[in-house]
Amino acid sequence: VAPITASHFTPSVPTQRRWMASEPQRHEFQAETRNLMDIVAKSLYSHSEVFVRELISNASDALEKRRYAELKGDVAEGPSEIRITTNKDKRTITFEDTGIGMNREDLVKFLGTIAKSGSKDFIENNKENAEAVIGQFGVGFYSAFMVADSVVVTTRKVGSSDADGLQWTWNGDNSYEIAETSGLQTGTKIEIRLKVGDSATYAEEDRIKEVINKYSYFVSAPILVNGERV
Ligand code: ADP
Ligand code: MG
Repeated sequence: VAPITASHFTPSVPTQRRWMASEPQRHEFQAETRNLMDIVAKSLYSHSEVFVRELISNASDALEKRRYAELKGDVAEGPSEIRITTNKDKRTITFEDTGIGMNREDLVKFLGTIAKSGSKDFIENNKENAEAVIGQFGVGFYSAFMVADSVVVTTRKVGSSDADGLQWTWNGDNSYEIAETSGLQTGTKIEIRLKVGDSATYAEEDRIKEVINKYSYFVSAPILVNGERV
């Protein structure tokens, strides 16, 4: 079974001069990937809160990868923390970690994958059975698309230089954009602008704490919600 990988994305030819590193690069999601995102969104509709679990588990994985690099002596030790910030007025929720971070290749490759190998067929064959999808596979990063109008990932990989920060932006359409940014700490920040309606409840601190207590008891790193440890 073919995993959904970066090859399922067709980077469009940038309209601007490619050699200008500072030009944002636009990439199109392929129709197949987009279809799968729609199926995930529909089957998980009544379980949209799983996006919190998925983003926390990604942050936790990233912290473990960083810890491992530290043990090998590849990078200096740093704090291990997952910070979640909600803003009801702006209708946003933000997940920040001090983990391994991502470079450009990682962004295209990893954020261009939907769940794990084999999950594509599984999900398509179990459209009616959301529980099974949730139980068997992590639906991963894309679960955030269910609740989002836009998603902005700002990241800098451990070991990279100050100028190597990147910003990955999805504005609700069939493409995403990667731009360069500097002055970031290493790690990853994922800012989600929530849809109006039920999704907007994830911008409420109490709601988020409730979901975290339900799902994320297995995470060893400290989780802070609006600065307070949960
Ligand atoms: P999975 O976690 O099962 O691999 P996801 O869709 O959740 O699938 O994430 C895809 C990949 O994106 C991860 O394997 C990881 O390489 C990368 N990634 C996602 N979130 C982060 C993060 N916060 N920090 C670093 N890498 C991340
Ligand atoms: Mg994951």
